[in-house]
Amino acid sequence: MPLHVEIIAAEQPILTIDVEVVVATTVSGQISVLPQHEPLLTLLAPGELRLGRGANEMFLALAGGYLEVRDDHVTILADAAERAEDIDVARAEGSRERATARLREARSNVDVVRASSALARAVSRLKAADRYRSRGVTRSR
Ligand code: ATP
Repeated sequence: MPLHVEIIAAEQPILTIDVEVVVATTVSGQISVLPQHEPLLTLLAPGELRLGRGANEMFLALAGGYLEVRDDHVTILADAAERAEDIDVARAEGSRERATARLREARSNVDVVRASSALARAVSRLKAADRYRSRGVTRSR
C-alpha cells in the first residue's frame, strides 16, 4: 500500500505521486513517514523533502509549510516547492548572499526574521540542488 502524496504550492501545478517513504524537515527535526503512519499534522521548516520508491528518489526543496498524514494520504501545503533539478542555483546563491549581507549589517533597520527566513530558503535550495547534482536519482511522473 503506497503513500499518496499531494504537494500544493502557490503558483505551481499540484504534484501528486505514490511513494513508499516521505522524509520531511519539520520545525522539530526530520521525520520519516511510511504507510500506515498515525494521523499527523506538523509544521515544516525550510528544508529538503525526499520522496522514495524502491531505488528511485525525488528531492525537493520546500520553503516551509504544513504536512498532514491521514489514511496513507500525505498532503503538503508548501510556501514554495521546487524539484531539485528545477532549482536556479545562481538565483539561490544571490539570495543567500543578500540575506547574509543583511544579517551581517545587523543594523536596526534590518528585518532579521525576514533575512533569516530568506537565508534558510536559499540554503535549503542549494542543498537540494547539490544533492541532485552529486547523487540525486529522480524519477519523472
Ligand atoms: P528570491 O530572493 O530569489 O526571490 P525567495 O526565497 O524570496 O528567493 P520565495 O518567495 O521563497 O523566493 O519563492 C518565490 C517563488 O520563486 C516560488 O514560486 C519559488 O518556487 C520560486 N523560487 C525561488 N527561488 C528559486 C530558485 N532558486 N529556483 C527555482 N525557483 C525558485
